[in-house]
Amino acid sequence: MTGGAVNDNMPNNLDDNPRMLAARIVDAVRRTIGGAESLVLLHEPYLPPKTSSYVQECIDTGWVSSAGAYVTKFEKQLAEITGCARAVAVVNGTAALQLCFQLAGVQRDDEVVCPSLSFVATANAISHCGAIPHFVDVDPSRLTLCPDAISKRLTDIARLENGRLINRETGRRIAAVSPMHCLGHPADIHGLLDVCNRFELPLVEDAAESLGSYYAGKHTGTFGLISAVSFNGNKILTTGGGGAILTNDESLADKAKHLSTTAKVAHPWEFYHDEVAYNFRLPNINAALGCAQLEVLSETIEAKRRIADAYEDSFRTIEDVDFIREPSGTTSNYWLNGFILKPEHASVRDEILHALNAAKYQSRPLWQPIHTFPMYQHCPRGPLVHTDSLCARLINIPSSSQLSTRLGNR
Ligand SMILES: *Cc1c(COP(=O)(O)O)cnc(C)c1O
Repeated sequence: MTGGAVNDNMPNNLDDNPRMLAARIVDAVRRTIGGAESLVLLHEPYLPPKTSSYVQECIDTGWVSSAGAYVTKFEKQLAEITGCARAVAVVNGTAALQLCFQLAGVQRDDEVVCPSLSFVATANAISHCGAIPHFVDVDPSRLTLCPDAISKRLTDIARLENGRLINRETGRRIAAVSPMHCLGHPADIHGLLDVCNRFELPLVEDAAESLGSYYAGKHTGTFGLISAVSFNGNKILTTGGGGAILTNDESLADKAKHLSTTAKVAHPWEFYHDEVAYNFRLPNINAALGCAQLEVLSETIEAKRRIADAYEDSFRTIEDVDFIREPSGTTSNYWLNGFILKPEHASVRDEILHALNAAKYQSRPLWQPIHTFPMYQHCPRGPLVHTDSLCARLINIPSSSQLSTRLGNR
């Protein structure tokens, strides 16, 4: 993350005035994406021209539901694009993540190490397995789960007992580590894999936000045992609602498909099911939307990266904020652009949000940390200093790929 040169010793009178800072930020956004007559949304879907004919085909042939050629085609394309052996399409990212945990062996009353700095679905998916999130802090330079913080936390509170990692404070088994690639920026995967190996834990990636993001040249969501992607309406690619499980393990992929289709054993007419399972399969008409967007995904990501470059340029002169850049060694999809206020300006965050939204640039803070919600406030956790601090200082600004046509002569 870079924010231009900052000289901490020099008082910056201009930025001592919160209204002035808000005005400069609005101006930076305006210089980047132009004036806003009507509301510029934070993130709009991009539905390429082919979409209508694909969806029309589903309607014309009657194949609108949970069987049909587009589901298979979508899965094949996803596997190809991510370089993963298999993709299994399901109804949403939360369902995908729930199945990931189940397939990684997470059981009732287990704990799963995850960030509190995430969308609530990360913790919900763990809860849907009857397990408990165990929150660990993020690395402030990349907004994602910090390997050193996990290592310290596990060394402090856990012990290995016959190959099971037990939390000495709760008596529960710690069953997995689940990083989230925040706003599309890849986590420190090598550091995380190293911690996972040392503590004998599977890595389950919440790659909901990181379709098209790479770590060391390899697609996110392909490093751990299994991972989940989301195609919700505000994500970089949307199927209306949808998600997918990615894995290089063929037998896990087969199990994921079985569990997402009511565990029905294939037969021309018999309805025989061999375990308690889910109706999580992605409908064909949704997959058709996804196929059209996957065909242009690389163009979409190029557009988003151009928008990020342009924002960075405009924000360079504002010393009181750090525009969020991809960590070195990674290529981010820049799903949502954003900036982080210096700690001393945290108190003016809401004033800046008011100013941006009043100027018709839809802008939002990051999620509130999950450990502050009533259902998750009693969960085990390490210190969450960076999580709390970042949530109070980060603002996301309009990032739709269509905005690349408004960048003008920069
Ligand atoms: C969007 C999202 C999900 C869940 O995806 P849905 O498709 O909305 O269920 C999970 N985790 C994170 C971090 C997300 O941003």
